[in-house]
Amino acid sequence: MASNTANPANHLPYFFGNITREDAEEYLMQGGASDGLYLLRQSRNYLGGFALSLAHGRKVHHYTIERELSGSYAIAGGKSHASPAELVKYHSEEADGLICLLRKPFNRPPGIEPKTGPFEDLKENLIREYVKQTWNLQGHALEQAIISQKPQLEKLIATTAHEKMPWFHGRISREESEHRILVGSRNNGKFLIRERDRNGSYALCLLNDGKVLHYRIDRDKTGKLSIPDGKRFDTLWQLVEHYSYKPDGLLRVLTTPCPQLGSESDNFGFNAHPSPSGTLPKLQSTIGHPLEEAPFNPYVLQRKRGPTEEERGDQREALPMDTEVYESPYADPDEIKPKNVTLDRKLLTLEEGELGSGNFGTVKKGFYRMKKGAKPVAVKILKNESNDPAIKDELLREANVMQQLDNPYIVRMIGICEAEAWMLVMEMAELGPLNRFLQKNRHVTEKNITELVHQVSMGMKYLEENNFVHRDLAARNVLLVTQHYAKISDFGLSKALSADENYYKAQSHGKWPVKWYAPECMNFYKFSSKSDVWSFGVLMWEAFSYGQKPYKGMKGGEVAQMIERGERMERPEVCPTEVYSLMKLCWTYNVDDRPGFVAVELRLRNYYYDISH
Ligand code: ADP
Ligand code: MG
Repeated sequence: MASNTANPANHLPYFFGNITREDAEEYLMQGGASDGLYLLRQSRNYLGGFALSLAHGRKVHHYTIERELSGSYAIAGGKSHASPAELVKYHSEEADGLICLLRKPFNRPPGIEPKTGPFEDLKENLIREYVKQTWNLQGHALEQAIISQKPQLEKLIATTAHEKMPWFHGRISREESEHRILVGSRNNGKFLIRERDRNGSYALCLLNDGKVLHYRIDRDKTGKLSIPDGKRFDTLWQLVEHYSYKPDGLLRVLTTPCPQLGSESDNFGFNAHPSPSGTLPKLQSTIGHPLEEAPFNPYVLQRKRGPTEEERGDQREALPMDTEVYESPYADPDEIKPKNVTLDRKLLTLEEGELGSGNFGTVKKGFYRMKKGAKPVAVKILKNESNDPAIKDELLREANVMQQLDNPYIVRMIGICEAEAWMLVMEMAELGPLNRFLQKNRHVTEKNITELVHQVSMGMKYLEENNFVHRDLAARNVLLVTQHYAKISDFGLSKALSADENYYKAQSHGKWPVKWYAPECMNFYKFSSKSDVWSFGVLMWEAFSYGQKPYKGMKGGEVAQMIERGERMERPEVCPTEVYSLMKLCWTYNVDDRPGFVAVELRLRNYYYDISH
């Protein structure tokens, strides 16, 4: 499986990273600038995009390679390619719009690595700080959030990072911006950016010889930002970076961010951008006439209209951390964690209707009143008529296991309540079992399914680490909080392992989900995290089959024989080969050769990051 290389061009010898257009020209000139000599560099204005610099007639031509929504790459208006390397290969055989064929790569001189951009360098820190501040997470919950949501967070950071930059002053008036810039030092190039309206347009306010210039920054239909007639950017920080490096039509380069009073150290603790100095202002270009701005008209904003592309983009899909159930309700310092988990019946209200049922009884939706308000809960209610004490003991054992677990990808128990019946009160996972959800939602993408099974592997890694075996891991026991947030549930068969054994030995064969069980479970009644890994393989198969039943039409005994013969289920139709090979690895016959969840989670993570980039 491909390793987690964030940049799909890093391995190319002619890729120079985040160098400027001028640097590229210099390199190609050094290289002789023969017709068709080229190099590849990172785009400095399009996220995830590239630029191709190509020498012809002693001049260097530059082509932007955009990354398309589908994840492929194309020179504007040209053919799509799976990777920058393939695009280069194509254009070494077809000019197809380029000034000439790509004839000869200009490779990085020895000792020169692709240059990382300021954002690449800061990304890790940015993500960590962002998650910490936005969701107020710490420790384990913080780590889990970062691991499971990294691709989404990178995107979020890239498009919202400016909010944390010292030069971003938010929604202030033109007058206020002038006031702020003129306070304190008045060096040329001092600047800030303010928000002009909610359609995603901004203004760049720049100090030049004691006067503040206002440049409009518009957002076009595709979401790109630009000063009129200037270069277009995906993000504000890229724009700032560019104009800090060269005036490119502005009266001068941006030098010092205008500080926001009282929020000096509120940003992420890094310099917003390197401030190159000494560049003389140029007057030659026609772009970016300082802004003649109409006075602010609140009526315009209040006019009723449909949401714009950007606004819809703002209402981003909720991440797991946005939900109520990411952190334990008992993580709230105001909520005294009850020593015993007995709940007060008076604080619990139950709704009509059932979420599910079994021979134990029913599961109902309800609300439990806590310090911060009523929390939606799912309540497993024991049948009253069955006076079988064994069933009650089972429920209490399940509660005992759940009480010891605390992970965002595992359904948490709120407590237990003895009233008209014994009740196990849990966090609510509104969208229900994964298999049923996928049966009803065939539009769910491969990437989405990968995201969900990766989350399950994170929850299982936690269980493994804490020496619990689940013993009933299956798609029916994975519940969804949202389409992008899965939790493991149903600990009815789970066991805590004793300190001296890494497996649990069942006394006798019970009512077992045999199609999910590893050979050693069937043959020796031995259950370990490795046998949970086997079940996880079946769970992945179910998920990529959109909730189909595994080993369809076969009896338990037939399945066991099939496994003994060395046969395994086939690859589901939409299952990526990388995932299928992992499935088969989970179905390694010999326990000792089978990977644990540490390895399984890492492989899924790498694959998920790869397809997300
Ligand atoms: P069983 O041991 O019968 O499989 P489960 O714990 O799997 O019991 O619960 C049965 C059903 O109840 C589930 O399939 C699901 O539909 C519903 N359910 C259980 N727990 C929850 C929950 N926390 N949130 C939402 N629905 C739940
Ligand atoms: Mg179940």
